[in-house]
Amino acid sequence: MFTHYISGGVEYFEYGEMKKGFPFPESLIRFLYLAMEPYDAELKRAGKALREYYPSRDEKYLDVVREVLDELAGLHEYFEFVRYDFCARMEKAKKLSADDASVIDLIHHDELPRIYSDVWNLQRAIKGLFASALDKDNAEMSVAEYFSNAEHDLLRSYHFREIATRYELIDGEMTEVLQPKSYLDLVDYDIRECLKRDIKMRVCKNCGRYFALTGKASAEYCDITTFENGRTCKDVGAMRVYTKNKNNNETFTEYRREYKRRFGWIRAGKIEPNDFYAWSAMAKEQEAACEKGEITFDEFKKWLARP
Ligand SMILES: [Zn+2]
Repeated sequence: MFTHYISGGVEYFEYGEMKKGFPFPESLIRFLYLAMEPYDAELKRAGKALREYYPSRDEKYLDVVREVLDELAGLHEYFEFVRYDFCARMEKAKKLSADDASVIDLIHHDELPRIYSDVWNLQRAIKGLFASALDKDNAEMSVAEYFSNAEHDLLRSYHFREIATRYELIDGEMTEVLQPKSYLDLVDYDIRECLKRDIKMRVCKNCGRYFALTGKASAEYCDITTFENGRTCKDVGAMRVYTKNKNNNETFTEYRREYKRRFGWIRAGKIEPNDFYAWSAMAKEQEAACEKGEITFDEFKKWLARP
């Protein structure tokens, strides 16, 4: 039995010995940005193998399908359900007699190839839902307004499916536990939970993808997109702030050094106090411009060095 549920802010995928957990709703967001293009040909290969299997009942064709399912399952945990479910049906198919035509319905050759376009359409619809109603900064309507409009926009809007859940006690809390019949049920369940929990989304300042505002409301960077060096956008963001503060400190240090030097000139009678204060006001403006990035640190230093 494959189940999916959320407990203590963590979403779990469980079947057999496997139990995977991610901070909710990370799976949904990673799903949103899956690049399916490289898998299109593979999914079609599985469809072709099934068409060869029906008349021949040669199990080598099912091995091809299993290979494709393994690849797909490695791409996203939603697709682990596809593998789990389709493999179970292939086992059933093996037990059918060679002339039993119900094999086609049981393991249909269109089912896997159509995942490519289905995912593409779903991604578009969910991004639309996020942008219209869940985007903390730019949403132009409420969730209720979105779904009232969705009735008129059948193609582009997200539409809920019928899903089967049990209500169970998990870790001391009553929890809605999904028993998916399709990977689409997993997507559906996660979207429902986002709405029930009133989760808002924001576009990450670094990668430009949506992330859920489940922690600090002021968060600007996601911690989902990970780069080759293992850093996430959040790490990149923290580095940026650090560099900015460091630059600001350096700017201020340069300003103070020059300020002290010129202040000494007043005593030495090398400058009139009024001239000094006029210079100091201009220097303050230059320093601010440098901190805002309007002029570079080098330009600022050059300005300070003017006689
Ligand atoms: Zn990001």
